Amino acid sequence: MDVTPIPLGSWPTPLEPAPRLAAALGLDELWIKRDDLTGLGGGGNKVRKLQYTCAEAVRAGATRLVTTGAAQSNHARLTAAAAARLGLGCTLVLRGEPPATVRGNLILDELAGASVVWAGTDPLDEVAAAQDGYVIPFGGTSPVSARGYVDCAQELLTQLPDLATVVVALGSGGTMAGLVAHLGPHRVYGVDTGALPDPRATVGALLDGMGVKADPAELQIDEAHVGAGYAALTDPVRSALVLAARTEGLFLDPTYTGRALAGLRATPPDGKVVFLHSGGLPGLFGHPALG
Ligand SMILES: *Cc1c(COP(=O)(O)O)cnc(C)c1O
Repeated sequence: MDVTPIPLGSWPTPLEPAPRLAAALGLDELWIKRDDLTGLGGGGNKVRKLQYTCAEAVRAGATRLVTTGAAQSNHARLTAAAAARLGLGCTLVLRGEPPATVRGNLILDELAGASVVWAGTDPLDEVAAAQDGYVIPFGGTSPVSARGYVDCAQELLTQLPDLATVVVALGSGGTMAGLVAHLGPHRVYGVDTGALPDPRATVGALLDGMGVKADPAELQIDEAHVGAGYAALTDPVRSALVLAARTEGLFLDPTYTGRALAGLRATPPDGKVVFLHSGGLPGLFGHPALG
């Protein structure tokens, strides 16, 4: 199915050298792909995927977007922002109960005018299907939207043709799948956040859905930084947040980019390394162990 993306962000995002962080990690060369600066609604990787999912929604005649996520979902926040930009309604189905204090991404969800439905422990997909509107899948990830990260991989090869490895946080899998679709499994290192029961199978299935032949066994997936789960904050992640801030003035988030940097620190690759800053800063202000 051919979908022309709706422009929602600012492209290409910058690729910046990070020499002080590189030295601290013992890397020859480290670059930061600033996908935290994608433009819309505080930025982040979900904008690239929403350009495709929103195009599908508009083509289907949608007047309201519905999506799902954790309470501090960056994807939910950016779906709310995209809906506002496109003049559509937005319903966010979030896991758990309403918190006592509205913080982080939830403040931005409300500012953008989204209605929030708290799903408790019910399956998010079922609650979403019962809403009135066009449902965008968990994390905005589908074989179509993963093409947003084929676009990013193309930008990267223009900016740094001889890149060796791109390090990225793995949540719902679309970002990694799109990068692998264009760069191949050996140039992408995904650090899992614990959002999926079987990340290798999910990324493999997405590649299959994109028509890309790749052996899931070849995917480089680091599962050592999940810790006690998606919302937990481990010592290596806390230390990675401090390191990035104090070497480069770069703020990472505790759920995704902090884990990705902890993964890079534990297993430093050779050659020119790109760290994908996928955004997520609002989540820091909503994290139970930090805020
Ligand atoms: C969602 C998210 C990711 C992971 O992207 P997926 O495509 O869901 O795997 C990484 N970083 C941040 C900040 C995110 O919000």
